[in-house]
Amino acid sequence: MPTTVTLTSASPLSDRVLAMNESATIAMAKKCRELIAKGFDVINLSFGEPDFQTPQYIKDAAKQALDEGYTFYTPVPGIPELRQAICDKFKRDNQLDFLPNQIVVSTGAKQALANVVLSLVNPGDEVIVFSPYWVSYEEMVRLAEGTSVPLVGTLENDYKVTAAQLEAAITERTKLIMYSSPCNPTGAVFTRAELEEIAAVMSRHPQVYALADEIYEYINFVGEHVSLAQFPAVKDRVITVNGFSKGYAMTGWRLGYLAARPDIAAACDKMQSQITSGTCSITQRAGLAALRGGRTSADEMVEAYRRRRDLVLDIVKDIPGFKTPTPSGAFYIFPEVSAYFGRTAPDGSTIRNSLDLALYLLNDALVSAVSGEAFGAPECLRFSTAAADDKLVEAFRRVKASLAKL
Ligand code: PMP
Ligand code: GLU
Repeated sequence: MPTTVTLTSASPLSDRVLAMNESATIAMAKKCRELIAKGFDVINLSFGEPDFQTPQYIKDAAKQALDEGYTFYTPVPGIPELRQAICDKFKRDNQLDFLPNQIVVSTGAKQALANVVLSLVNPGDEVIVFSPYWVSYEEMVRLAEGTSVPLVGTLENDYKVTAAQLEAAITERTKLIMYSSPCNPTGAVFTRAELEEIAAVMSRHPQVYALADEIYEYINFVGEHVSLAQFPAVKDRVITVNGFSKGYAMTGWRLGYLAARPDIAAACDKMQSQITSGTCSITQRAGLAALRGGRTSADEMVEAYRRRRDLVLDIVKDIPGFKTPTPSGAFYIFPEVSAYFGRTAPDGSTIRNSLDLALYLLNDALVSAVSGEAFGAPECLRFSTAAADDKLVEAFRRVKASLAKL
């Protein structure tokens, strides 16, 4: 017999979760999976996920860890060998010196970001989020009861926020700035000169910290990846987040990390100890092998991402009303599509915004994209380019044909 639950108020749920938006990327991916399960031939370009398999040497290390009985809890901030390997990686790739007590390994970069926001932000603190931003930043700030202050980069500047904009946006309540470079969703990459200017602004505001999300570090078509932590004047106030999902095609393994000043790292360790503890023991051994193997496998994938970016840009340049900056990294294109707002679809409905356009393309072209609204850019649409070449060609052929009907 099912028990009857009597609710004393309309909803038992906390204000916290009621105020939270579902991740738009995950919501669209869910919708897509449902349509595919019903037999529709949907091309899913909504989810930002490498379509490559995790390299074999990493899988082998996981199998070995399992065979060796590596099935116990690990230290909360990660196994010592992995924390050391992450320090070695920072030295090799970013010329940054960290000690293992400055590293916290987490269940994906997502948890590393949440650890930092929850450890630094007090209710009422302002967090300047460079916009367009990755979907979860705003929600994490809201969860911490901070006030997120989106700072919008212009299309003319490839959506990159400038140091002058930052200077003007900082108030005495600003606690943190957050950005990703290479950027999800725009693919923009900050240059050394740009980050140097941002560091200079931070030096004038000693209460301001920065969360630099570098998860797309390896997927960079321009070459130089610069870390904000490389500028000595601000290194102690920069928390660098990175992970394995993108560079090593390890999304499902759930492995990310942060590097920070020891007191901030210790706070994140404490936060994590009460929520999830250390991430999966087997995953950590796989991550160790990944780092010891260097970045050759990533470099091979990057060549494919570059080819796909070029392929897609070549098609979308002929789509009227798409204004698409050339991404310097990551695996997305982020066209400005407002030319289609106000147009009428074949069923008589009006395309009012990018969400309507994304839904129209899903239904008419069977191609899924994510509305720019979730990224703080309601006039844009995000398409992932992490799909096979022939799928991309077919997807954008369909998108073009569907848009022509509006
Ligand atoms: N930051 C950005 C900018 C991302 O695109 C992602 C992708 N999900 C993440 C963080 C989180 O990555 P992870 O899979 O390691 O949690
Ligand atoms: N980073 C990916 C994206 O932006 C994964 C989705 C997510 O974790 O929200 O689509």
